[in-house]
Amino acid sequence: VPTAEPGYLQGLNPPQRDAVLSTEGPVLVLAGAGTGKTAALTARLAHIIATRLAWPSQILAVTFTNKAAREMRERVGKLSGGALEGMPWLGTFHSVAAKMLRMNAELVGLHSNFTILDTDDQLRVLKQLIQAADLDEKRWPTRQLASLIDRWKNRGWTPKQVDAGESEAFAAGRGAELYAQYQERLRTLNACDFGDLLLHMLVIFRTHADVLEDYRDRFRYLLVDEYQDTNSGQYEWLRLLAEPRRNVCCVGDDDQSIYSWRGAEVANILRFEKDFPGAKIIRLEQNYRSTSHILSAADGLIAHNAGRLGKSLWTDAGDGEKVRVIGVWDGPEEARRVGEEIESHQIRGGSLDDVAILVRAQFQTREFEERFIGIGLNYQIIGGFRFYERAEIRDAIAYLRLVTQPADDLAFERIVNTPKRGLGDKAIAAIHRHARATQQPLLIAAASIVGTDELTPQARRSLTNFVADIARWREMATTLSHPELARILLDESGYTAMLQADRSAESAGRLENLAELTRAMEEYETLQAFLEHVSLVMDNDEARQGDRVTIMTIHAAKGLEFDIVYLAGWEEGVFPSQRALDEGGLASLEEERRLAYVAITRARRRATIFHAANRRIYGQWTSSIPSRFLAELPKPHIEEETTMSGGESLWRAQWSERADPFAHLGPAQTMRASTRGPGWQRASRGNFNPEPQRIIEARASAVSLGNQGRTDLELG
Ligand code: ATP
Ligand code: MG
Repeated sequence: VPTAEPGYLQGLNPPQRDAVLSTEGPVLVLAGAGTGKTAALTARLAHIIATRLAWPSQILAVTFTNKAAREMRERVGKLSGGALEGMPWLGTFHSVAAKMLRMNAELVGLHSNFTILDTDDQLRVLKQLIQAADLDEKRWPTRQLASLIDRWKNRGWTPKQVDAGESEAFAAGRGAELYAQYQERLRTLNACDFGDLLLHMLVIFRTHADVLEDYRDRFRYLLVDEYQDTNSGQYEWLRLLAEPRRNVCCVGDDDQSIYSWRGAEVANILRFEKDFPGAKIIRLEQNYRSTSHILSAADGLIAHNAGRLGKSLWTDAGDGEKVRVIGVWDGPEEARRVGEEIESHQIRGGSLDDVAILVRAQFQTREFEERFIGIGLNYQIIGGFRFYERAEIRDAIAYLRLVTQPADDLAFERIVNTPKRGLGDKAIAAIHRHARATQQPLLIAAASIVGTDELTPQARRSLTNFVADIARWREMATTLSHPELARILLDESGYTAMLQADRSAESAGRLENLAELTRAMEEYETLQAFLEHVSLVMDNDEARQGDRVTIMTIHAAKGLEFDIVYLAGWEEGVFPSQRALDEGGLASLEEERRLAYVAITRARRRATIFHAANRRIYGQWTSSIPSRFLAELPKPHIEEETTMSGGESLWRAQWSERADPFAHLGPAQTMRASTRGPGWQRASRGNFNPEPQRIIEARASAVSLGNQGRTDLELG
């Protein structure tokens, strides 16, 4: 009797079905963007449950973000018909490991109610250790040690496993010793950091065969999405659990590996076949997401990477629209254009949920946010804070507020000990007491308390300096331009130095945000007008629900799709990022290119790339060099447009013909006559600076990855 095909198989193509139905033995699905890897993995999960191969509690399924885990849970529920009764082991590596560790904490000397430290806590502990070791904190910044320890944990190394060469990277070989002390300290605090969640479980697996046996027995099936971004520690963890049944299915795309800066290793894809001999490799080639021009543009771009496994993709979704490459005068024009297009999409009845703006770095969101607030367009920022909510921006604004308004107690509290000035809780409490007793603002109270013996000599000294600094800056405010004032505040307060001391991607991003802040200030006549604007923007910030445009970094967009995608700021130094250019290696450039590939392949129907001819950097208009990636896009699949005088696009001239294997295919351009006034002549070719190096040097700092890297770390 022919039975109806189960719902979860309907519509799947043959290789996808193969991925769903080959439940026994190792399977690796290696396929390009939008080919239905996640869809197949979800169907596989539904299949295993529906056919009772295992109970939901016997399946371990790993996604890259908690959001992806929630979506998979919902989809599996629908596909397998009826509500899904728990899938306790569906989550990110970190959330799954945290759950396991709670059940086994004693084995590594923790109690099951251990706390998970955030970055700030972690840094505080490390800082104490560095001080206790009598090391020069300037020379050996806390954050550097933090990122080293993180790296070691990502590799699955305990302190003993850190070899001398690696340990050499910090304080003349004391790295491993500090790492050991840190772990000891965390144990006494009954705490662990994110890296520990996995590492502790690894250690338990390595040393407690019975525990490992238990889990091996439990997990009948293992499924992993976004496999290309697993790190060595995660890989080992997975491999240990997968034995001896080896019912492990990983899906991934080497071209979308974008987290090597956090320890991910594409090489794990190659290792899979070796570690799981006889693994079935399934390739998916039909892309269901994008129309043909978009797919071909992305394909042509990624073809410039050397280290690839290579694959071919096709779609029957029709040609669709070409990828538009639009040159604009500057950042504000970029935001204006995008805003206009989204409004007309809305007027035609389109939903804002269909639209995403993808940026390379966090600082790029500001211009869009301000524009959208201005025109009343609902938006959300995913995986990060809105610009004026970011900690460094709030700090900078607090400085400015305190300088203009001595009675601003909130501002005072925020920055009196940021950066650290040795004004601890006791000193702050004393200032508060004095302020209450004398009914004065905190700053005034602070000025009078320094003459008393209520404070330690050291606190008295720092507070005196602080009060004097504020007075001096207030004086300066009368003569300096306000962006200039902001720069001086940040420099003289030690705020900039604090961020510079720390060479992480995160603080590079913060520096960029601050540079962006001073750029924003230039648009206002007075400091007062600017601060006014900020409070209005902040007031506008209550999270609105419903239809809204999504703004996020490319990193956060992994695995997602939108009908309409705008890609902003494709300029050298922005994308590829300054950091990648400074490192100069082929590897970092190739990772940027993979990011570009991820970016374009998020689009279903329309992809539009922007590059601005000018960016304002430290108050100077600087010509930008269009991104080399633009020249790598195959011409037949793109449509160029420029709003600038001079007509012809500049970027092809910038990047030599040899960078463009499709150059011979001829142009597919639509030009728009410029309607700009004389000021716009500056963008004309004559003045264009064709020398990338100068621009690159002018750029302040590296481009940030911001909070995006943390998306899988939040524990759902
Ligand atoms: P990425 O590499 O970006 O993570 P992916 O390979 O995981 O992409 P999916 O997100 O699973 O791809 O699928 C892309 C789109 O194609 C989704 O909208 C999905 O619903 C759709 N899709 C997947 N398989 C099929 C199919 N067999 N028939 C029709 N649509 C499909
Ligand atoms: Mg996917």
